Amino acid sequence: MRRSLFEPEHDAFRDMVRGFMERHVAGRHADWEKAGIVDRDVWIEAGKQGLLGMDVPEEYGGGGVADFRYHVVLDEEVTKAGASGLGFGLHNDIVAPYLLGLGTDEQKARWLPPFCAGETITAIAMSEPGAGSDLQAIRTHARRDGGDWVLSGAKTFITNGINADLVLVVAKTDPEADGARGLSLLAVERGMAGFERGRNLDKIGLKAQDTAELFFDEVRIPATNLVGGENRGFVHLVENLPQERLSIAVAAVAACEKVLELTLDYVKGRQAFGRPVGSFQHNRFVLAEIATQTTVARTYVDECIRQHLRGQLTVSDAAMAKWWTTDLQNKVADACLQLHGGYGYMSEYGVSKAWLDGRVQAIYGGTNEIMKEIVGRGLGL
Ligand SMILES: Cc1cc2nc3c(=O)[nH]c(=O)nc-3n(C[C@H](O)[C@H](O)[C@H](O)COP(=O)(O)OP(=O)(O)OC[C@H]3O[C@@H](n4cnc5c(N)ncnc54)[C@H](O)[C@@H]3O)c2cc1C
Repeated sequence: MRRSLFEPEHDAFRDMVRGFMERHVAGRHADWEKAGIVDRDVWIEAGKQGLLGMDVPEEYGGGGVADFRYHVVLDEEVTKAGASGLGFGLHNDIVAPYLLGLGTDEQKARWLPPFCAGETITAIAMSEPGAGSDLQAIRTHARRDGGDWVLSGAKTFITNGINADLVLVVAKTDPEADGARGLSLLAVERGMAGFERGRNLDKIGLKAQDTAELFFDEVRIPATNLVGGENRGFVHLVENLPQERLSIAVAAVAACEKVLELTLDYVKGRQAFGRPVGSFQHNRFVLAEIATQTTVARTYVDECIRQHLRGQLTVSDAAMAKWWTTDLQNKVADACLQLHGGYGYMSEYGVSKAWLDGRVQAIYGGTNEIMKEIVGRGLGL
């Protein structure tokens, strides 16, 4: 189905992103997968090409265009290139809104120029060894000491965790407050005394993505690194999570499209019983279902993007998009792997990587079970 979301300028941007992927990523990603991390110079190159901070005002070195469709194009092309190690989506779609929406002028002037140049790589650290879905269980805490905050605790599963120069850490700043209240966002910077990285975690997919443990031992953070309101962290998270979930859904649909494309190509060429395996009715039906479901998912997600551009995407709509498309992504990857037969189980075939990389989509950004809780609550249940 023809998409009506984009204007010619987005198509031109897409061509540019594809060129970037071919020149700076395609030939290197396999090495990054072995290393468990991408080289920092790809971030610098992305900064030069205007792929970081597209919506950051020009005075801070950004693209100056607050149009989420540029983020969508980048997320789709990163996914279609299989460049699952690039944490650009986390930087642009997830961290930037906190800095742009909540940062003081002084913070923006300090952090956004290197953010856009790819010199400062960012991360956000909510999850802890004992607290993922349940933010009420966050133990990382900070107390005031003169003009500073003093932060202690541990985070885990943090995307860009090794490369990050600036980490937005969710910490309890009011120990008396109940539940998820009393949380604040503190920006921890590379080199602060007491800030240590743990393991770069060994995962089943996203092999080039540095997903790490972070430790904070009495890290002294100037009060000027508090992002947003003191004890307002939970509200800030709730406001920003719909965009994070929409980005995940955008990537999920792009992954379905890419895997379908790979598989169509394969089943037209692979012969069994004297005919292409795609010509057996069962396989044709499987692929017809995948094409239909992917088109339906695309249509819903494009409408979510339109709502988001108007500032009207609800928490519930974003949660629906996240769980439904990522569930679909996993089903599609599994069915397509099956259609490849034994070759689907071989690492050299793109479908096996898509199967492994996609699995986490149902887990991070809020698990799909938590998404259904949100949708259920929206129904008054
Ligand atoms: C590759 C990767 C990258 C990540 N990147 C980041 C990052 O950059 N920053 C960050 O902060 N976190 C990140 N995470 C963490 C991720 O957000 C959490 O793993 C996720 O929120 C789930 O938390 P958990 O792992 O503690 O699972 P748990 O909360 O322990 O959940 C375990 C199971 O119980 C289910 N469950 C829990 N509560 C309920 C409930 N109320 N009803 C029904 N079922 C429930 C869950 O759905 C899940 O199936 C990342 C994780 C991975 C794997």
